[in-house]
Amino acid sequence: MTVNTALVDPFGRKVDYLRLSVTDRCNLRCVYCMAEDMTFLPRQQLLTLEELCDTAAAFVELGVRKIRLTGGEPLIRRDILSLVETLSSLPGLDELTMTSNGVMLPKMAQALKDAGLARLNISIDSLRAERFKSLTRVGDLAQVLVGIRAAVAAGFTKVKLNAVILAGFNDDEVLDLAHFAVDNGLDISFIEEMPLGEISSHSRSNTQISSEQLRQQLASEFSLLDTAETTGGPSRYFRVAHSPSKIGFISPMSNNFCSSCNRVRLTAQGRLLLCLGNEHSVDLRAILRRHPGDVACLKQHIIAAITKKPERHYFDPERTEIVRFMNMTGG
Ligand code: SAM
Ligand code: SF4
Repeated sequence: MTVNTALVDPFGRKVDYLRLSVTDRCNLRCVYCMAEDMTFLPRQQLLTLEELCDTAAAFVELGVRKIRLTGGEPLIRRDILSLVETLSSLPGLDELTMTSNGVMLPKMAQALKDAGLARLNISIDSLRAERFKSLTRVGDLAQVLVGIRAAVAAGFTKVKLNAVILAGFNDDEVLDLAHFAVDNGLDISFIEEMPLGEISSHSRSNTQISSEQLRQQLASEFSLLDTAETTGGPSRYFRVAHSPSKIGFISPMSNNFCSSCNRVRLTAQGRLLLCLGNEHSVDLRAILRRHPGDVACLKQHIIAAITKKPERHYFDPERTEIVRFMNMTGG
């Protein structure tokens, strides 16, 4: 099979992973992700179902092998099942995955699996109901736990949990979260908080805690075996001895992983972001709407955009240089 080299950036990195944000809206308001008072995009500014499908197809023709649907909360988009159905049958796409907060999974897990979604990441930052509510401002932990069970019952290849750990908020739950994952045969990744978007709930310089600090906590109760295994994303994984579970760390603050970056993101309004921590981007919606149905033209613009991918991000928890919130960016 010939290797498609259309999407190789100036630093020699092959882009084969697209994160597609389908909405900036959400049914939660996590304190590290959003401000309390958010203004969301008017619906006509979002890419339509057809525009999302055309763009995804163009990326896959150019060599993208994995697409993750995200947001905002992807499951609150009304046509999400049609999108999953269309994208999962794109010839050449190896894997369609999603990151969700789990709230809608009790109702939707089986339908998503049936529509062709292969893997699912579910975000859960606390196992204590009151704390879960205060971290998400409105969330009901019980609903998310039912959602996790529904995802497991639906038979996804792998269900992985994601937890953002903030010092002083939930860093005392790292062991509990890991035990919960292992006891249920799930993987879990711990994520360092990034300074994306101006928030008022806390000072991000006070809540930083590194993956290495978490790994040391975990080593007190788990035997963590180094592994080179990857799911094509930024997580660095350890196998848990005597268990099928893996524990991963996503360390954008303490361990720059840009040299192996294989990803780009498309925001819900069709802005192709070439790096999470930089503003380099191209407005694909303008191209889609100026040349409707012209896939060749879209592909030319995507190929040109990849030449603008920056070498790396520079995050400083003392300063929010990126004013875009994570729900806009697509996590
Ligand atoms: N709503 C879905 C969810 O929460 O899983 C998908 C979108 S959310 C933006 C994707 C991931 O980004 C979640 O795991 C969330 O915890 C993480 N996230 C949000 N804001 C973040 C931040 N400032 N730093 C690090 N991770 C963040
Ligand atoms: Fe919503 Fe996900 Fe952001 Fe939480 S992290 S507010 S669930 S988009």
